[in-house]
Amino acid sequence: MEQFISNEQFNVIKSQIIGMHRQASVTSDEGVKTAVKEAAEARVHDVFDELTPEQEKLISGVASLETEEERTKFLMDLSPYRKAFPDVTPADLRGLFPKVKKLQIPNLEAIDFKALTYLGWKDIGQSKQYFVYVQNGELTGVQGRYVISARKGICSLCNRYGDVAMTSIQNKPKESEGLRSYGQYICYDSKECNQAIQDTGQLEAFLGQV
Ligand SMILES: [Zn+2]
Repeated sequence: MEQFISNEQFNVIKSQIIGMHRQASVTSDEGVKTAVKEAAEARVHDVFDELTPEQEKLISGVASLETEEERTKFLMDLSPYRKAFPDVTPADLRGLFPKVKKLQIPNLEAIDFKALTYLGWKDIGQSKQYFVYVQNGELTGVQGRYVISARKGICSLCNRYGDVAMTSIQNKPKESEGLRSYGQYICYDSKECNQAIQDTGQLEAFLGQV
């Protein structure tokens, strides 16, 4: 069976399983428990447009997960079917940012490419943030600047509450117009962001500005 689960889809499944457990454990009403579990099962199926019978079988059964062990095993068993972010080399990254002299390259060997919706890293010395994502089937690089927020906030890419940085990207829509800057609060740690992001809509809307 081919790999068919994107990082965002995996995050939806994970979040439904955790949310279902949390909600079901605070009620003793069996009817409510059943409703919560059925809703989680339905939501997991909803994130896929099309599934073969084998794929359908693999993602079914969320509602019957009872123990922590079962929940962990369910997610582990999906691992071989998770799609990975495209393999990138340092040369690929330099090619995406040709104007940046001495581009700081992240430690690619330490990254789990199955757990990526986008590749994000910082050049802390320069307060620069780099994003690489797949847009219309092609790897695209966007760079911006960031300022760490003193307060926690909601990330506009993944909706997670945590440490964020105001991250700005710039574009120049037409020759006659000046630079326009777009800023959003985004997770400081892109690994955590990637573990929470559940769809690519907000990522594409933000990075698509340039
Ligand atoms: Zn985030």
